[in-house]
Amino acid sequence: MHELGVVFHVIDHVKKIAEENKVSHVNSVTIELGEVSAVIPFYLEDCWNWAVTKHEVLIGCKLKIETIKAVTYCEDCKSEYETVKYGKICPNCGSEHTYLLRGNEFTIKEIEVND
Ligand SMILES: [Zn+2]
Repeated sequence: MHELGVVFHVIDHVKKIAEENKVSHVNSVTIELGEVSAVIPFYLEDCWNWAVTKHEVLIGCKLKIETIKAVTYCEDCKSEYETVKYGKICPNCGSEHTYLLRGNEFTIKEIEVND
């Protein structure tokens, strides 16, 4: 499952930061997740809740997900529009010369710890 790999990656990263900063317990991790990032929040939380039980420093650690709306830019009419609603074709001029401005993110935004 794709989400499980993502969760392992995040946990590795968070554990490394916790070790470097001599943190005893991580309370929550905030993730910025783009609407079209191909990661499904529900599965992500599911994997997360299972995976954190395997690491002492993370037991009970919450995953907070902030969704970033996907926006596409049209090169022909220089407008921006909602990616999820219209896809690759600009709703203003019908052009296919478009690219994703944002919405593909998967970033660890914040790690909240006990110190
Ligand atoms: Zn356009």
